[in-house]
Amino acid sequence: MTSSKKINRQAVSLFFRKIKEADRIAISGHINPDGDCVGACLGLCTYILDLDPAKKVDIFLEPISEKFRFLKHADKILQEKPDEEPYDLYFSLDCSDPERLGAFREEFEKAEFKICVDHHISNQGFGDLTFIDAEASSTCEILYDIFEEKEISFDTAQCLYLGIVHDTGVFKHSNTTRKVMEIAGVLIEKGVRPDFIIDETFYKKTYIQNQILGRALMESILLLDGKIIFSAIKKKDMDFYGIESGDLDGVIDQLRVTEGVECALFLYEKVEGQFKVSLRSNGNVDVRKIAENFGGGGHVRAAGCTVDGNVRDIVNNITPFIEQQLKQEKSV
Ligand code: AMP
Ligand code: MN
Ligand code: MN
Repeated sequence: MTSSKKINRQAVSLFFRKIKEADRIAISGHINPDGDCVGACLGLCTYILDLDPAKKVDIFLEPISEKFRFLKHADKILQEKPDEEPYDLYFSLDCSDPERLGAFREEFEKAEFKICVDHHISNQGFGDLTFIDAEASSTCEILYDIFEEKEISFDTAQCLYLGIVHDTGVFKHSNTTRKVMEIAGVLIEKGVRPDFIIDETFYKKTYIQNQILGRALMESILLLDGKIIFSAIKKKDMDFYGIESGDLDGVIDQLRVTEGVECALFLYEKVEGQFKVSLRSNGNVDVRKIAENFGGGGHVRAAGCTVDGNVRDIVNNITPFIEQQLKQEKSV
């Protein structure tokens, strides 16, 4: 017996009617695209083109990691709009609010019909049609619910599997449900190779990526009796190693599994004096609430924000919020 899909039939009919009627379709996801964002955008594009290869579908994303380039239609990803005409239909995927679309927000707003598919609890709903499920592990899981199982090709299955793998941290975060495992099973039956997707896109590191991971761990600092751990990488060091933000994937996860740690912080300098902060919790801290105090967001156990200042000040500003939550000691 498989867990049932969570879908509103009427909304799904409208979803497909709008695709059918649209001549010009665009798909976009959040800035700094992660595995779920890339998997969702390419999975939806592939699904639409499998149904109708003549459809015009453009995908707009900030440059994606090389490790996701094997996915079908990755070569269709654009950063600039090819012409002036607005789109008939525009999808926002894996974005908690329209601002997360970054430079693509303006075109999204101009589109005749807008569809939002997302799993962030903070999503208030935007666009003309929304599919928001905060209980879903990933945006790819919601797309799976919308799609007809028999129409999911191997190429679409690879995209959806990738998104689920990345947002569940390879089937280990608290969002890994029976339903997630059943969906993964269906996608494996479609031909997806777990060893390939998991090793190639999640665990595999270049020599430099391993070096920077080692350095970040070596320079990490424990605070609050070891309940908080943080580490930071400055822009000048990123330039020295010739690395980009995608090369730092996995650092925060390794910090989080340090024994005794309740909350991990990892900062990297995006531009001088401005840091991207990743926050992870082991269950007693709601990091989304903390990130929201700094203009960010995310999920209970994984959140992020971008903050101006130097490492010391940023960490000193964030830690009292963590301390306060730990004093209340309520499992999240
Ligand atoms: P990250 O630390 O970048 O892997 O992000 C963890 C989670 O927080 C993801 O679900 C992101 O979508 C979310 N997130 C990260 N940065 C931001 C931000 N500046 N605003 C809102 N959500 C964010
Ligand atoms: Mn995401
Ligand atoms: Mn996601």
